[in-house]
Amino acid sequence: MSLNKCAVCWKEGGKACVACKSCCYCSKECQKSDWKSHKLLCHAIANEEARPTPSHVRAIYFPEDKPTPELVWIHHTPEDEVNSDPGILEMSLMRKLLTRNANDLLGLTKISWNHRLKQHSSRMIEFHYRDNFCNDGSHTTASINATVEPHGPEKRHWKGPVLVLAISREEPPDDDDDGDLLGGPILQYTDATLADFRSVIDHSLCYERQQMPSDMQALLSKFGFKGLDLGDGTPPPAATEGVSKDDQRKGSSGGNKSSTTATTSAAPDSSNDVRETIQGVQLDCQEKGSDVRQVRVPRNHPIRNGDGDISPISRLVGMPLRLRKNAERFADWGNQKACWMMLNINIDDPTWGFAPFEWQIDINNVIVVKEDGQDLSFIETMNFFAFCADFLDQVEHAAEIGTRQAKVEAMTFLTPENYQKKLKEYK
Ligand SMILES: [Zn+2]
Ligand SMILES: [Zn+2]
Repeated sequence: MSLNKCAVCWKEGGKACVACKSCCYCSKECQKSDWKSHKLLCHAIANEEARPTPSHVRAIYFPEDKPTPELVWIHHTPEDEVNSDPGILEMSLMRKLLTRNANDLLGLTKISWNHRLKQHSSRMIEFHYRDNFCNDGSHTTASINATVEPHGPEKRHWKGPVLVLAISREEPPDDDDDGDLLGGPILQYTDATLADFRSVIDHSLCYERQQMPSDMQALLSKFGFKGLDLGDGTPPPAATEGVSKDDQRKGSSGGNKSSTTATTSAAPDSSNDVRETIQGVQLDCQEKGSDVRQVRVPRNHPIRNGDGDISPISRLVGMPLRLRKNAERFADWGNQKACWMMLNINIDDPTWGFAPFEWQIDINNVIVVKEDGQDLSFIETMNFFAFCADFLDQVEHAAEIGTRQAKVEAMTFLTPENYQKKLKEYK
């Protein structure tokens, strides 16, 4: 978002906060509605210590056990060859701020979609946190809670310390035709502003477990998609076969000793029981060979506690799949399978047929599980991937025609019936 957009309603042409000049407001009302959180950093920005070097960018640090956020300078090396990489972060300070021991992995989430305003921002914010914060004894992040609370309950349920960096996105000049297939904007780490701070609040305030824009339901019914329960209440289908072939390698290492074997046989009549481990797949990133591997996912894994995003296509075909990036990133690692599974299917969005940015770059390895808690096999995953690839053909066809009607027709590909039909072809 451009720097003179209102931090609250994103209207153009606001006036900067006189004290910090770090964000703008279109009106007294917008400024007032932001004040209770803005004031936590306004003074800090106005009195900020000087930037140590030109390669340092301002980040917002949310301590775990203190009530207020802080500003920190993070060093990075700009990436001048790859447009889609905002630069390499110097990790030592970040690890010092975020980890407790050398084994802690850092998680990374990039956000450009604003749930409150139902719009994509032209900037991205990047959350860094302890990857396993759901289960490693981390406390609720006091400083995020205090920041979000004046606006409503904190729904992201952050735990442990969190660090937020901002990334600017600029469209490349038109003549920049270097044969790069996707082209894509030029990304750069940039100083986090108090408008980005507001985006952190919005994300934590409006985060939904399903990560589905709430207007999606209306959109689906517009296309005549019926009978799909989009909520959480879908009862899992009865287990049909061999769900307990558990190799026990990964699954039982989670520390829950209470019911290691007894409940894994998953009798169909005990569908309310959460199984100790379920079968999922790991999609390795391209740099690690793009392998697809079966993994056992323990009950306390973050993905089984609602972390990650649902593949929109999977939902439409009646087999909701949840994807979660799996590891700390040190490089620009792509993952085409994950990217295709996460294609945006909202035809009113200009990025229809593309994955959101956070699923195009820096993806690394990805874990996939079925949202209904049943096992996901290798074959099912590969079939689903083939289906996404076929859908992309439809997207390309629609793009050639270039009308909205063509997009609507492409969307008719995404039905449970067509998916079942395609599955027979893939055999
Ligand atoms: Zn405003
Ligand atoms: Zn201010």
